[in-house]
Amino acid sequence: MKVICKRCLLSEISDEDTKKTIEELIQTMPEDKKADATLYRSRLDICKSCDYLNGGMCTRCGCYVELRALQKVRKCPHETPKW
Ligand code: SF4
Repeated sequence: MKVICKRCLLSEISDEDTKKTIEELIQTMPEDKKADATLYRSRLDICKSCDYLNGGMCTRCGCYVELRALQKVRKCPHETPKW
């Protein structure tokens, strides 16, 4: 797995590198930590209609939503949590 350089600026990282890293983190997440597929899909559907979503990132908390929504214990950081 390629790790994003902690000392790199976003301008030094390609979108493809970031996407690949997120996909690898999703694929390697332990099954017992994951929300089930239905819950995951419903969370992402909600994020898709949220004004805080920007380029795959929740600008409320700075997480990539596909990674945050996949984690069973995570909650939406919206001032009025949406999931
Ligand atoms: S505030 Fe909640 S619903 Fe909105 S993008 Fe962030 S995680 Fe998704």
